[in-house]
Amino acid sequence: MKVIIIGGGAAGMMAAYQAAKEGNQVLLYEKNEKLGKKLFITGKGRCNVTNACEIEELFDHVVTNKEFLYSGFYSFSNEMVMELFEELGCPLKVERGNRVFPVSDHSSDVISALERGLKAQHVKVFLNTKVKGLIIKEEQACGVRLESGDTVMGDKIIVTTGGMSYQATGSTGDGYDFAKKVGHKVTKLTPALVPFQIREDFCQKLMGLSLRNVGVTLCADGKKVYEDFGEMLFTHFGISGPVVLSASSYIRQYQGKELKFLIDLKPALTKEQLDHRVLKDFQQVMNKDFGNSLDHLLPKKLIPVVIQLSGIPEHKKVNEITKEERQQLVSVLKRMELTITGVRGFKEAIITQGGVDVKEINPGTMESKKIRGLYFAGEVLDLDAVTGGFNLQIAWSTGYLAGMN
Ligand SMILES: Cc1cc2nc3c(=O)[nH]c(=O)nc-3n(C[C@H](O)[C@H](O)[C@H](O)COP(=O)(O)OP(=O)(O)OC[C@H]3O[C@@H](n4cnc5c(N)ncnc54)[C@H](O)[C@@H]3O)c2cc1C
Repeated sequence: MKVIIIGGGAAGMMAAYQAAKEGNQVLLYEKNEKLGKKLFITGKGRCNVTNACEIEELFDHVVTNKEFLYSGFYSFSNEMVMELFEELGCPLKVERGNRVFPVSDHSSDVISALERGLKAQHVKVFLNTKVKGLIIKEEQACGVRLESGDTVMGDKIIVTTGGMSYQATGSTGDGYDFAKKVGHKVTKLTPALVPFQIREDFCQKLMGLSLRNVGVTLCADGKKVYEDFGEMLFTHFGISGPVVLSASSYIRQYQGKELKFLIDLKPALTKEQLDHRVLKDFQQVMNKDFGNSLDHLLPKKLIPVVIQLSGIPEHKKVNEITKEERQQLVSVLKRMELTITGVRGFKEAIITQGGVDVKEINPGTMESKKIRGLYFAGEVLDLDAVTGGFNLQIAWSTGYLAGMN
């Protein structure tokens, strides 16, 4: 069979490799001058290829449509992904949180490994070649139209055009248009794994401050909807960093509600324990100003903001602080409240939430239920996960299934 693949990113290269390995003639079209431009920037240039957790745990990290991925993850698991990369000459290592990276710490080695695989399987790669549309006859995919005006006919078409974030990498959402034009539903597209914009202007004063080991809670209309623990960062517009990006994947269904991001600066201590600790600290500096009493408790940059939020006058002597005031300080430390006014755009989003509706895709083969011979894989589908290598695992698994079938 002649298989045409649109998009030479993670899912497209995997689909091409597998389809060719099955003995098919494979043509891979990529509009950029090289393959895997987005892969190159993944994991801050190191490419977090997958996650070495137990296979069942993979599902816990998928945010949207995890049930759809059952066949994909079991047919081409994280372990199989790792075996394949080792086989293709890219040794891997496992780091904190089971994150898997190439030993070399270079994403380019992941791309080179795939390129070697494509070459060995005689996949014909066409670079600088943009696909403009699909050719469908009697509900059967039979070819593609190129930007040049040429048409290419084939027996099977796989769409792996990615999402629409970081558009300079080539993911400009073309696949969503292809899907819509042939009658597929595309669910609402929103940027995810993306920083938050925050109303409180003290964030600006904290710009550049990174907090480790904080507890965070996302609330919608006062109801807790997500909790996490880890690292975050203040920026000129609001907040970013791992726990913020992960939280952003969970706000899709709460749009229109009041969203708050609560930070517990001292998650290891209960309110009572923290009050005790503050009292002990205060006893050491009884005659100092309140403003000079928090050095042991907080990073320098955060002190003026916490003082402001506590409502305790900066120049009040520590020995004059009342129990109520101290408890108010403890409340601020345990629950620093930020109001989310929005998320940053697709330009800064790691992934796109939403995509081709998976209800219209066969989860065992990735074939469209509407058009015979048409397949979708990777981020173009309405699938997404948190950080840690899980999004690439989705691309590898769905790309593999599309290629195999
Ligand atoms: C900064 C950043 C860091 C990330 N880090 C990680 C990480 O470490 N681990 C992880 O798991 N995930 C990470 N991700 C997410 C991950 O990169 C994506 O989930 C993954 O690349 C999706 O693969 P894909 O093949 O579906 O799409 P893409 O990799 O986006 O590939 C789509 C390809 O299709 C091509 N294309 C599009 N339209 C056309 C057309 N009309 N004709 C021809 N070609 C076309 C594009 O040029 C592109 O090359 C990161 C994302 C970003 C932005």
